[in-house]
Amino acid sequence: MNPVYDYLIVGSGAGGGVTAYVLAAAGAKVLLLEAGKRFSGNTYPKDEMRAGAQLMWGGGTDMTTDAATVLLRGKVLGGGTVVNQALLDRFDNLAWADFKADSGVSFFDNAAMADHYDAVETHLALHTFHDRSRWNRNAALYVAGFEKAGYQWQPLRRGQGDCGHGNDCMMCLGGCPRDAKQSMAVTFIKEAEAHGLTVRTGFQAAQVVTGADFVTVFGHENGVPQSHYARHCILAAGALGSTELMLKSQWQRRLPALGQHFYCHPQWMSTAFMDEPVDAHKGAFQAVKSADPRFRQNRFKLENVFAGPVAMALLNHRQMGAAHQHYMRRYRHMMCIEVALRDQTPGQISLNRQGRLAVTKSLRQADLDNATKGRGVVAEIFAAVGAKETMASDIRVGLHLMGGARMGQQAATSVVNEGFQVHGMPRVYVADGSLFPNAPGINPSLSIMALAHRAAHSILAQTAGA
Ligand SMILES: Cc1cc2nc3c(=O)[nH]c(=O)nc-3n(C[C@H](O)[C@H](O)[C@H](O)COP(=O)(O)OP(=O)(O)OC[C@H]3O[C@@H](n4cnc5c(N)ncnc54)[C@H](O)[C@@H]3O)c2cc1C
Repeated sequence: MNPVYDYLIVGSGAGGGVTAYVLAAAGAKVLLLEAGKRFSGNTYPKDEMRAGAQLMWGGGTDMTTDAATVLLRGKVLGGGTVVNQALLDRFDNLAWADFKADSGVSFFDNAAMADHYDAVETHLALHTFHDRSRWNRNAALYVAGFEKAGYQWQPLRRGQGDCGHGNDCMMCLGGCPRDAKQSMAVTFIKEAEAHGLTVRTGFQAAQVVTGADFVTVFGHENGVPQSHYARHCILAAGALGSTELMLKSQWQRRLPALGQHFYCHPQWMSTAFMDEPVDAHKGAFQAVKSADPRFRQNRFKLENVFAGPVAMALLNHRQMGAAHQHYMRRYRHMMCIEVALRDQTPGQISLNRQGRLAVTKSLRQADLDNATKGRGVVAEIFAAVGAKETMASDIRVGLHLMGGARMGQQAATSVVNEGFQVHGMPRVYVADGSLFPNAPGINPSLSIMALAHRAAHSILAQTAGA
């Protein structure tokens, strides 16, 4: 039999990485299980296709059941923090207030969370792009368009200040080849390993069984059945992973809210073709963001993104042959803005008849109307910088996967209590984006880290001597 750990954590992303660090630094015997593999700057796949295939669940092709939304999530040591853009914002008062209103959770506010944000930020090298000489032309055009059209913007804060000047690696979304991006793999997990954390990659958890004295996690390690044991288990497999694991453990009967209230900040990218090269693939991938109160009121924000040639080709899926070739030839001339929606329509995470993960997510008219408003503003900004031709992609992407095991007071309407414990299951906790009660409309990962920091301290206090 494998050893019995004090704590076993499933999932090594924003939530799992921070939780592992706090528990290991406190001297506990901790095991971190991750379905994906361990990579580093030297070993991340070198091209866009392989990065998607090797670092994402479903090779980056997972979709909702109606095939309307692509769902992207990392499957790698470090989870989403390895494949994301590392935009690290704190929630504003509105996001916390809406969390509190939906859940009744007392610490959902900036005053109660400030120490946790401060604590996680001391482990991250953060960089705010005030210096315009560090921007690429995609950012400069975005700001010019905002200023001409009379909208407010701000420099971005990223966990990536060392992109190099004018390089064209464009590999943030496939792990950082310079190991400069502040993923869990190069920050919290590395520090936790120095405190004795045990990490097992290639282990996909399939079921959690709780007993009187310990918890067993059943799964497969590189295809071979394996079980791991601990006195307490923390689920940090992300909104889809943690919810799926609880559904597979057949806890839905006692937790009727399990799988409900799934949100994903649906996003749509639009491109403008400029006469001069934009070279949006060079230098700092993203440097500026929208900060207009009217956008927040209308539940959208505009991101100054771009993507590699494979993703940009997919966005233009309606054109074929010579027309598509003409589109791709102008890759260097593309300016790009994305609308990200603060979705209100709850989706659902369930298992289908074959026992496989199924995610349904439709958008009500109010959500669609807000997305249309956002896309209207994008068109206005493109016009303001003199773009003569534009392309608004209809591909909808969900990158910020949240909910499914929302935190709240009642077991009838939520899954996790204020102590991060699954209702009625004293040995099982959740510390990831699955516990969000709604969509904040702000990049979630820093707040997931801060919540995980709070969760780990709360778990230590609750389980002392247990
Ligand atoms: C392309 C992209 C760009 C993004 N950009 C940003 C950004 O700039 N800023 C921001 O704030 N957010 C961004 N996000 C979202 C952000 O990365 C996630 O919100 C965050 O990582 C979620 O943290 P988590 O702990 O909930 O889950 P994750 O980080 O997804 O971690 C969950 C981990 O659990 C593992 N796992 C799942 N199931 C199992 C299982 N059964 N057994 C074992 N392991 C399992 C997964 O492989 C994964 O490693 C982006 C996401 C993507 C995909």
